[in-house]
Amino acid sequence: MRIGFIGLGNMGAGMAANLLKAGHEVTVYNRSRPKVDALVALGAAAADTVAAACTGDVVFTMLADDAAVQHVAFGDVDLAGGIVDSLAPGAVHISSSTISVALAKQLARAHADAGQLFVSAPVFGRPEAAAAAKLFVVAAGAGSTLERVAPLFDAIGQQTFTVSDHPEAANLVKLSGNFMIGSVIESLGEAMALVHKGGVDKHQYLDILTSTLFGAPVYSTYGRLIANGAFEPAGFAARLGLKDIRLVLEAGDGLEVPLPVASLLRDRFLALLASGGSELDWSALATISDRDAGIQG
Ligand code: NAP
Repeated sequence: MRIGFIGLGNMGAGMAANLLKAGHEVTVYNRSRPKVDALVALGAAAADTVAAACTGDVVFTMLADDAAVQHVAFGDVDLAGGIVDSLAPGAVHISSSTISVALAKQLARAHADAGQLFVSAPVFGRPEAAAAAKLFVVAAGAGSTLERVAPLFDAIGQQTFTVSDHPEAANLVKLSGNFMIGSVIESLGEAMALVHKGGVDKHQYLDILTSTLFGAPVYSTYGRLIANGAFEPAGFAARLGLKDIRLVLEAGDGLEVPLPVASLLRDRFLALLASGGSELDWSALATISDRDAGIQG
């Protein structure tokens, strides 16, 4: 398939590389150029504008947040047209960024009005999983469109879950999943501060947890990062973690679902950002528990 790929950050770079490996013709666009050059070295074509990445059957977006997706989808003077203005009728926009439910609805409407197709396909898995084509894809949109792009999901992930023919449902699932991960990071941070201050080795503690009742990957992945204090370079930056918690709260507002733990997480992330942690991995939330417990370092 002829594919455009917009957004070559920690996640997008690996996803675009795997689409190339699967034999697709991939044209890449990124706001800053060096990331484009790295993909060109792997066989991608370079696009200098968003429009130039929208000439194929499909265009993926894997961008930081709502503002970035809005900018690229709806265009701006410096972009020479956005995706909605550039994509051919019948072509598909696959949105894999973690964005709001409201923006997914807006994109679905705008693409439908332009005679184009829209699919939400956010992913679970960190950059290592993106590079290894081991993502979990949560997809929603019209069944016939999902069938058409299924081989692309197979190229980037290990499993695809189809949740609804309404694209925004996939964003709701992704956001609620990230809320769960944030809750695990916060509780692991508090528990590790407790045992550590009481004189127990964090690694041994983590080993006990993951060998008994807490065998899920989320505990081992984030527990290891916290025990090692390995917060740089960020696999998922704390500023993006806060973004997701805000989007979860926004979705809760819209559906009148109170999310008291998410409200707490918002404040904990704000504290991390206020103390300079914006670019650290979001597992650095644990440092706030250490600080509150008077643990140095
Ligand atoms: P990242 O490394 O920060 O990359 C962000 C990308 O967005 C870069 O290509 C960046 O361009 C681009 N961008 C940001 N603002 C822009 C703007 N105003 N206009 C145009 N482009 C803009 O982020 P990431 O970790 O790859 O995450 C990407 C998305 O996937 C996010 O929605 C995130 O929540 C989600 N996600 C991340 C993970 C993870 O573990 N990292 C896992 C699942 C989902 P530049 O290169 O020019 O800065």
